[in-house]
Amino acid sequence: MGADLERVLITEAEILVRLDELAGEIWHDYEGRDLLLVGVLKGAVMVMSDFMRALPGTAPMDWMAISSYGSGTKSSGVVRILKDLDTDITGKHVLIVEDIVDSGLTLSWIRANLESRSAASVEIMTLLRKPDAAKVTVDVRYVGFDIPNEFVVGYGLDYDEKYRNLRDVGTLAPHVYA
Ligand code: 5GP
Repeated sequence: MGADLERVLITEAEILVRLDELAGEIWHDYEGRDLLLVGVLKGAVMVMSDFMRALPGTAPMDWMAISSYGSGTKSSGVVRILKDLDTDITGKHVLIVEDIVDSGLTLSWIRANLESRSAASVEIMTLLRKPDAAKVTVDVRYVGFDIPNEFVVGYGLDYDEKYRNLRDVGTLAPHVYA
């Protein structure tokens, strides 16, 4: 499977160090508040799992699954909820835990949707952010790594449902797309 990678951008070890830093910072920022971690399936599974274990204390998690009507690797921002949260988020401080923000269209929609449910606050943490994310107004409070505008896989991110279980984040070799 590793042979399908062209280049490793971020190693698992680097990811874990960064998630540790973010966990400390976020725990401090949310001190005394009712924090709820919300993951978006399926890409955020690895981030959520390592991030929440890096937190100095405990916080509950919940999950959403959405489908965005994008074609190929671009998203349109038009979103349908496939699995909704199990919890009522009224009065909660919600932190969306994401794997990657590209155009930010998907996240803008999710954030607006959660805000409409009377959450006390809704912020976003993402492991990876691409340059295009800066073009839209989605305010991402916590960013793990800024990466170049390339299609990446691994650490939860897929290409056609494959490569999610790669430990590192990297770009795919051209022969994979052929
Ligand atoms: P956005 O709405 O921010 O453009 O799209 C975000 C979603 O597109 C992510 O949650 C992810 O599912 C997908 N995506 C964007 N860039 C990449 C990438 O480089 N690799 C993979 N595997 N998915 C991506």
